[in-house]
Amino acid sequence: MYDVIVIGSGPAGYVAAIRASQLGLKTACIEESSNANGASQLGGTCLNVGCIPSKSLLDSSHRYSDAINHFSDHGIEVNKPKLNISKMMERKDKIVSQLTMGISGLFKANKVTQIHGHAKIIDQNHVEVTSADSSEVHETKNIVIASGSSPINISVAEINNKNIVDSTGALAFESVPKKLGIIGSGVIGLELGSVWSRLGSEVTVLEAMDEFLPMADKRIANDVLKEFNKQGLNIKLECKVTSALSENKTVIVTYENNGNHCEIKVDKLIVAVGRKPNTDNLLDKNCGLSVDDNGFIPVNDFCETNVQNIWAVGDVVRGPMLAHKASEEGIMVVERIAGKHAEMAYDLVPSVIYTHPEVAWVGKTEEDLTEAGIEFKTGSFPFAASGRALTSGEGSGFIKVIADKKTDTILGVHAFGPSAADIVQQGVIAMEFGASAEDLGLTIFSHPTVSEALHEAAMAVNGQAIHIGNKKK
Ligand code: FAD
Ligand code: NAD
Repeated sequence: MYDVIVIGSGPAGYVAAIRASQLGLKTACIEESSNANGASQLGGTCLNVGCIPSKSLLDSSHRYSDAINHFSDHGIEVNKPKLNISKMMERKDKIVSQLTMGISGLFKANKVTQIHGHAKIIDQNHVEVTSADSSEVHETKNIVIASGSSPINISVAEINNKNIVDSTGALAFESVPKKLGIIGSGVIGLELGSVWSRLGSEVTVLEAMDEFLPMADKRIANDVLKEFNKQGLNIKLECKVTSALSENKTVIVTYENNGNHCEIKVDKLIVAVGRKPNTDNLLDKNCGLSVDDNGFIPVNDFCETNVQNIWAVGDVVRGPMLAHKASEEGIMVVERIAGKHAEMAYDLVPSVIYTHPEVAWVGKTEEDLTEAGIEFKTGSFPFAASGRALTSGEGSGFIKVIADKKTDTILGVHAFGPSAADIVQQGVIAMEFGASAEDLGLTIFSHPTVSEALHEAAMAVNGQAIHIGNKKK
């Protein structure tokens, strides 16, 4: 009998399993996807076909585009770099296998039992695992569902894995498509669009909505849209795709825009319209657990389902589909199983889009606060005024700190610029400790760093920035 069975080995599942074992709980983790040796391929979406391979290609393509477009700014003259896509892909695959094998090592070191096969919950104490040649029922005191998510398919653009692909296919193109279409200007559309655009594709992004990045700060979203269009991502809003026809080596994509019927011809089409939870054949009809209309498993703030001792975490439950949110939920749940009083600070889950420059934020936007009737003040600082950003040729974008008008408590940090992800992370730490804008202003930041922009933006909240003119109060 196990204390905990975790279903899925993505960032929610493998982290939950390791922590559970550290807490002295007898733990097993079940994973259905297979590696070349027929054993479990650990790591889930994030390590295999998500965060890690996409960041590897973002980094490689950024270096390539930097060599072409910016080395000469530094007085470095090079011949036009030659692209070796198969080597770039090999590098990415090597990083993925290093990290996924690392999880296997961590499981061994932490005494987590690995079980290979498809898991189905029979009831709150029994999980059936089916693999190619066997089926076995395992007994457990607690079950943590961490089965993750998969790309959403749309009938107007069916994936054929040749020239119409989802994000997984777009991480493995063998050559650079001359013309690339992308459906959806969400995080995947922007990150993978950037990769292929930097490598030479002519990219058109078709977005159904009339608003770009609705979850981000409005001013940042506007600046990002302008910057990405300048970089060569042709982002078209209010474009509803009506069909995608694969003909020989071309895809003819038709869409409606303001009542007009339009058409583009591309060599490859990426469908990036969101992800859906993995709950197929996961629950026996008598197990008492149900899924909502969109396939998510309903949970409360502690990730408890409606069945005692069954918990669900990560992409398969509500909230942003992010690896760090998934992992933290996994840790919270097993700590609660072990009798601790862990909880999640859902208001402080940061978001990052790993484009260049990066886009990152945490907490509330001005729009959220206005809607909630909360009075606030803001301070902004442009990277053009940051010495360090200028030395790196990274002077575009800005950072904004939002604080409560009366208490000065920081309510949000939003950035578009160099190292935005790491700078906003400093805001997350400050907010976790309930810091005020003044607290950040009184903190010593190393010079010259791009982080100083956060310091200045925090000081600007109270009209005390040094390196820009402050707003008149
Ligand atoms: P998953 O990682 O999806 O793992 C679930 C696992 O469960 C899978 O291995 C699956 O095989 C297994 N499983 C499912 N059902 C069963 C079953 N019945 N039995 C056994 N095993 C089962 N997030 C970020 O925070 N930062 C990023 O930079 C980022 N980049 C991304 C880039 C791309 C291209 C994509 C697609 C996603 C990206 N994400 C990113 C999102 C991130 O990958 C997910 O939020 C994260 O992987 C969710 O973790 P999870 O453990 O809930 O699920
Ligand atoms: P998304 O929800 O971020 O964006 C999907 C976009 O597609 C939306 O803008 C939506 O309006 C649009 N869309 C939907 N249907 C459409 C249609 N028929 N025609 C045109 N546009 C349409 O989803 P995604 O980009 O697929 O990413 C999936 C998930 O993966 C996200 O939830 C994200 O959190 C996660 N992810 C995170 C990162 C990161 O943290 N850096 C990177 C990649 C993916």
